[in-house]
Amino acid sequence: MNAAIYGPLGAGKNVQCKKLERRYGIPHIVTGQILRENAELETPYGTPKEYMDEGKYVPDEMINSIVEKELSEVDHFMLDGYPRTMNQLENFSEIITGLDVVVLMEVSDETTFYRLLDRKICSNCGDSYHKEYRPPDTPGECKFCGAKLTERDDDNSEDIIRQRIQEYEQKTVPVVEQYSDDVVVVDAERPHEAVWEDFFEVVEEYIPDDRL
Ligand code: ADP
Repeated sequence: MNAAIYGPLGAGKNVQCKKLERRYGIPHIVTGQILRENAELETPYGTPKEYMDEGKYVPDEMINSIVEKELSEVDHFMLDGYPRTMNQLENFSEIITGLDVVVLMEVSDETTFYRLLDRKICSNCGDSYHKEYRPPDTPGECKFCGAKLTERDDDNSEDIIRQRIQEYEQKTVPVVEQYSDDVVVVDAERPHEAVWEDFFEVVEEYIPDDRL
């Protein structure tokens, strides 16, 4: 299964992909998480943190090589957060011949703010929580791995969220448009269990038989 998932911030890509990974062993490659784990890494372009703290995309050169390495290590993937610019799309086309499916999860800007401003992330597995939309069973604790929940630095300012929405609209929407024939839209405004039903229906046929 070679798939990519798109959607504005807070659409719930992480929640759906992590579930797919836990249940069916499809590796969820999430570039934002890789960059957060390497936030202080010195590169010729500076550190990932310098860009993320301002709500800006990191330079294409920084992310292209990271993704190439990740993809070389897996047979199947659900890619979350790449390719996000036209230049990344070009680079991606040189390493992967095609995608089985592209999922676009849609939510409004209002939902983005609502979900991000009260979002918590598991410090170990990266799963996402929200105090109303998706509360943990025990406050402050991931219900899957038990690790501590933390806040993302780039979630707690409305200005940074606005900047991130702008990056998505200016740089990523054109990429999704390029995929138009392969894109399946899922309405992600609904409760995450309902979103899962639609999401799973879209991806099920690409999950290898021995994992179903
Ligand atoms: P979001 O969905 O809120 O953008 P992510 O966790 O996917 O969150 O990404 C967090 C940050 O990591 C982004 O704001 C950006 O700085 C950086 N990032 C992730 N993927 C890419 C990418 N493909 N190209 C450039 N920057 C990226």
